[in-house]
Amino acid sequence: MAYTSLYRRFRPDTFDKVIGQEHIVKTLKNQIINHAVSHAYLFCGTRGTGKTSVAKILARAVNCLEPVGGSPCGKCESCMEMKLSTNFDVMEIDAASNNSVDQIRDLTEKVQFAPARENGYKVYIIDEVHMLSKSAFNALLKTLEEPPLHAIFILCTTEVHQIPQTILSRCLRFDFRLIPTKKLVDHLKSVYNAVGAKYDEDALMLIAQAGAGSVRDTLSIADMCLSYCSDNVTYNGVLEVLGQSDPKSILSLTGDILTQNTAAALEKIAKICDSGKSVQILASGIAENIRNLLFIKKCPTANRYIGLPSELFDEADRLQKKIDTAKLLSALDIFTSLEGEFRYTSQARIIFEAAVVKAALTETAEALPSSQKNVSVPKVAPKETAKVEGVIAPKTKAEVKKTDAPKPDPRALKIWSDVIATVANDSEMSLKGEYDSFLKFAVSDGEPFVEGDKLVVYFADGQPFIIVDKPENRALIKKIVLDLSGLEFVAKKKLVLSDDNTKSYLKSLFDNDLKIK
Ligand SMILES: [Zn+2]
Repeated sequence: MAYTSLYRRFRPDTFDKVIGQEHIVKTLKNQIINHAVSHAYLFCGTRGTGKTSVAKILARAVNCLEPVGGSPCGKCESCMEMKLSTNFDVMEIDAASNNSVDQIRDLTEKVQFAPARENGYKVYIIDEVHMLSKSAFNALLKTLEEPPLHAIFILCTTEVHQIPQTILSRCLRFDFRLIPTKKLVDHLKSVYNAVGAKYDEDALMLIAQAGAGSVRDTLSIADMCLSYCSDNVTYNGVLEVLGQSDPKSILSLTGDILTQNTAAALEKIAKICDSGKSVQILASGIAENIRNLLFIKKCPTANRYIGLPSELFDEADRLQKKIDTAKLLSALDIFTSLEGEFRYTSQARIIFEAAVVKAALTETAEALPSSQKNVSVPKVAPKETAKVEGVIAPKTKAEVKKTDAPKPDPRALKIWSDVIATVANDSEMSLKGEYDSFLKFAVSDGEPFVEGDKLVVYFADGQPFIIVDKPENRALIKKIVLDLSGLEFVAKKKLVLSDDNTKSYLKSLFDNDLKIK
């Protein structure tokens, strides 16, 4: 018999089996019980959170002859037809491949015909509905404005901001939440128990964390682990499937960075990278560790939420006591902003290593004695002092902002977030081709400040600035900013890693082995 994936095998067939969406399930069950279903639903949320599963259950429930507590009974004639896929009143359409106006017109014509069963419903589940063309949306809108009594539309999307307002206002909207790790672990347990697999508790936590709130992703990983570990899922087996490094070594690396043990950190990175691990995964692993340290520092019940094995938690707890909050925050800032920088570079490892050095050397104002607060030279660990003599130390990111621009003010941030939304939503622009999809990324990199009648926005010196500074793009953003705020848009480069001093400084640390583009 062909293998059925865990995700399909354990797909919920009643509302009560849906995980982590209680707020939605409760409303839908009540609608069925009270015969008060809507004619248009919008299910939005991240992939794998249950939108299509709930849509299918709803389609079966409205047609079920004897629903049980709002869920389909699974036994009646209608439910049996759905199981055997011989019911043609429920249609599932993938808008990614059926997005033309003709296909939607065809659908809206067919919806006028009565369903096969008396008192039944014709249910149209349109997946990835944001992929519909503008004219297809218009065709759909006409039907949504005056739907036949027997029609129900369930629109599913991961990109709700791309749905026209006219459609949104006709739909009953449900936002699907990411599933908490704890619930994913419980679900994994019941799934593995049901298939008779053995497992380590720690391994389940690792799988659930990698699933990042998505049931589908979690069960796909669980599937891979099951075949890789041949029915005994171990912690190390899961690590290998995920291509991750051992969390203990990542935590120890994080500790080296935060305690300014730069040499040890760089050696560890070389070893990990040479074993074929990706720099991106390593960087996000460090960011996650720093986040955990902050959580432990600020929240007495942290381990309930971050879910580390007890040995790792104790180690992290010891580490966080040695490091102050401001240092953790600035290091977190450095590692999370890397994700954006990786998109524009073929030199990920160099960018990463530079970030490690920067994070290790950044001494926060809070940690310095007050007499040193005005000195712009970062405190350097004794080991490195000899190497950097005679080199002008770089400004830290915080200091660049302090001297070159005022503090970010809420007004600037609000205007800029509107600009980002406008650029992302403008369908005219996205039709112009590949180039503008880069503009979306580039504008999201900007750090805005209002200076007099100007909106000055700082971009990373590299692709973000180059893209924004193209004449046609600059003119476009200028117009959007002017329309939104009446301010004049000015683009400037961030000085962080482009600073010549920083380059020579980093070169000296790496004994001139560092190649900077
Ligand atoms: Zn039934």
